[in-house]
Amino acid sequence: MRILASRLAVTLVVAALLSHVLAAHAQVRRNEQQRPPSMTLEDYEPTSMLRVDEHPVARAKFPFVDIHGHQNLAMDDAALGALVAQMDRMGLRTLVNLSGGSGERLKAQVSNARAKYPGRFVVFANVDWSKVNEPGFATDAAAQLERDVKEGGAVGLKVFKNLGMDTFWTDGTRVRTDDPRLGAIWEKAGALRIPVLIHTAEPAAFFLPVDKHNERYLELTQFPGRTRPADKYPPFDSLIAEQHRMFKRHAKTTFISAHLSWLGQDLGRLGRTLDSIPNMNVEVAAALYEIGRQPRAGRAFFLKYQDRILMGKDTFGGQDEFAVYFRIFETNDEYFPWYRRRHAFWGMYGLGLPDSVLRKVYHGNALRIVPGLDRAAFAK
Ligand SMILES: [Zn+2]
Repeated sequence: MRILASRLAVTLVVAALLSHVLAAHAQVRRNEQQRPPSMTLEDYEPTSMLRVDEHPVARAKFPFVDIHGHQNLAMDDAALGALVAQMDRMGLRTLVNLSGGSGERLKAQVSNARAKYPGRFVVFANVDWSKVNEPGFATDAAAQLERDVKEGGAVGLKVFKNLGMDTFWTDGTRVRTDDPRLGAIWEKAGALRIPVLIHTAEPAAFFLPVDKHNERYLELTQFPGRTRPADKYPPFDSLIAEQHRMFKRHAKTTFISAHLSWLGQDLGRLGRTLDSIPNMNVEVAAALYEIGRQPRAGRAFFLKYQDRILMGKDTFGGQDEFAVYFRIFETNDEYFPWYRRRHAFWGMYGLGLPDSVLRKVYHGNALRIVPGLDRAAFAK
């Protein structure tokens, strides 16, 4: 009897276990059947469930200078008028066109903008790096820059990212940003007391393998040409180091490193760099999403380096895009989207900067660094 009972117990336990396993198995199968179809990263656009106070800012609290613009100011009157109307709506007092070129092209833009909208636009000249292998290149480029400033009305020099990455000497070696053969150009800018705004390298993630660990995977799949593979390009750190060495070597020239020097993701490093290079400044164009994800460190950085940071936007994009910059600077809002998900799929947080710092970032630092701005227009 006892044996029978224990046999029954064992059978019951086995049966119970078996039914449990079967039930779990069925559950898994049911879940699999109900599983929604997989989608691509591009398709996935989750709507945040978070409900918090929102303080959209359509117009900057103080009139501002956009230090990083690309607008051909020889555009026709209707287009220029529409641009100025958009600028007015968001408090953009002066737009810097960094794509001025040189010679007649530059002069035509300056005179058109000055005649029609005095005080609203200034222009930076560019160096033609395609001539880098011509004898006397740097001296000629420096002389051209002087003419562009004195005769053409340029108030700065913009250097595009092709220097350092895609410009080559005749022997096939890369033209490095800190090559001493280019020194005459940077010295001339210093002598003319105009700033040099320079874009070197690209976001650091563009230099990494395009795999599941890459933060910019979405962008690099949408725009594969933006990758900077190690077999074709030097490492990010080398390119940035070349830029910073060049700044140090030309200490009397004022530099503005574009896009937070692509170090917005490492403010400790950017701070140490600024500490060691007093003639270096940064602007935030197309890089503020890095600050927006670290509101505490970002705010501390803006307070500490308030005399070295300038407002810039790069692609014009309209009021909705500028509004994200204003909101990061001015509010304490939490977890709001950046305007381009391929740059930042994470939420933004406001820094709540004090008025004294906002004034410097919006226009004070630009007024100090860039000659020829209409100072009175920013006084209010
Ligand atoms: Zn740009």
